[in-house]
Amino acid sequence: MSDDFDLIVIGSGPGGYVAAIRAAQLGMRTAIVESAELGGICLNWGCIPTKALLKSAEVFEYIKHSTDYGITTDVPTIDFPAMMQRSRGVSERMSNGVEYLLKKNGVHWIRGFGRVTNPGKLVVEDSDGNARQYQSANILLATGGRSRELPGVPIDRERVLGYRDALALKHLPESMTIIGSGAIGVEFAYFFNSLGTKITIVEALADIVPAEDIEISRRLDKSFRRSGMDILTEARVLSVSIAGGRCRSTIQTPAGKNEIDSEYVLSAVGVVANIEDLGLEEAGVQIRSGKIMVNEFYESNIPGIFAIGDVIEGPALAHVASTEGTICVEKIAGLAVHPLDYSNIPACTYCRPEIASVGYTEQQAKSNGLMIKVGTFPFSASGKANAAGSTDGFVKIIFDENTGELVGAHMIGNSVTELIAEVVAAKRLEATGGEILNSVHPHPTLSECVLEATAVAYEQCVNI
Ligand code: NAD
Repeated sequence: MSDDFDLIVIGSGPGGYVAAIRAAQLGMRTAIVESAELGGICLNWGCIPTKALLKSAEVFEYIKHSTDYGITTDVPTIDFPAMMQRSRGVSERMSNGVEYLLKKNGVHWIRGFGRVTNPGKLVVEDSDGNARQYQSANILLATGGRSRELPGVPIDRERVLGYRDALALKHLPESMTIIGSGAIGVEFAYFFNSLGTKITIVEALADIVPAEDIEISRRLDKSFRRSGMDILTEARVLSVSIAGGRCRSTIQTPAGKNEIDSEYVLSAVGVVANIEDLGLEEAGVQIRSGKIMVNEFYESNIPGIFAIGDVIEGPALAHVASTEGTICVEKIAGLAVHPLDYSNIPACTYCRPEIASVGYTEQQAKSNGLMIKVGTFPFSASGKANAAGSTDGFVKIIFDENTGELVGAHMIGNSVTELIAEVVAAKRLEATGGEILNSVHPHPTLSECVLEATAVAYEQCVNI
């Protein structure tokens, strides 16, 4: 194998590996540099292993409530190491799948840590410290992110954990303080709480999942409190001290200082981009607020150096990184491509009840001066949700009153992460409420709730 490529991608997460394979499909001689497992955080320490654990929690909850479904079982017991092992196994299978896909598409895997030395040139150092030079007309940085650390709360990986450490625990914690209530915070909160860990969530802003529509935040708050979690909002962890194997978190609340004792602390206050030690400064790549600056097709100020995913501005989501990677390499290949529409990105959170949303919240629509029609349909009125025994939650859908166009949707409830793609496609096609009402939805399905919420907005609903 010659060391000359059309494209070298650094990082094999959902941004990098998708970009590399698409580039190879378009005829580019492509390599990918990765020092760890293929698939990045998403497959190995994020989206996929957490979903495996959340499935275990869901199964446990079903068994605990089996009598609701007319089934009597013995009291279930938790084999925590087996749950963790299953989750690791799922990640390993998916990572092996990426290796298979790279091979199938002729993408060369360079094992090691990549560093740009000059535009068009990089060096890769393997785990034994051997360095090798490579040349490539195009270099794509897709190195992802890692847990942000709060001042006063360093992640020691023993008692104060980041998401990676939480996925490698050996026993079920008796108690855990979770700092931050974004997707990572609430997914772990649901998982551990459902297995019996005493959970306290500490959120700096006024509501949990603060990026969501306020009605979604309030419903999740109610549901979490009902399931036994403690939630402190407008509260900040100032410091954590460790003594006798316990964590003592000092919290600033509007009412004053407070202390919480727990076995573990999980720090889930966002991610920072992995941009250090990549040779970017030396290459003259422009960086602002810890992110690589790129144009709408992901090229940096240095021609031939591109960046996608968590290292650039925008939502740190796997599906965003994959789409950016695809657009980036299709543009390099000379295809006619359009910039990504960042106003139509779905966000999904997989606690129970799940959350899924796209577009404007009601508050954002109003503050952007739109006259809106809003419809909300509760799962308690859905036949399918009643049959499934999961009636907690609702679908809320927002239309521009002047044009009839769909501008946002916000859902909370079981399986809503599977419902949101319909709304994304409708929004992409600039669908109006009338067009959704004229689209027959199958009965009985949860997807009917999208239709029903639209009918509520247009005052035509017959089912509530
Ligand atoms: P986040 O930015 O989504 O949420 C962090 C939360 O921490 C915010 O609510 C913030 O107000 C709060 N916070 C910040 N400082 C605080 C402090 N001092 N005290 C208390 N609270 C504080 O970050 P995350 O949940 O860590 O997730 C990181 C990234 O990974 C996000 O971009 C997220 O979208 C992504 N992610 C997505 C999924 C998914 O799509 N299901 C799952 C996991 C992570």
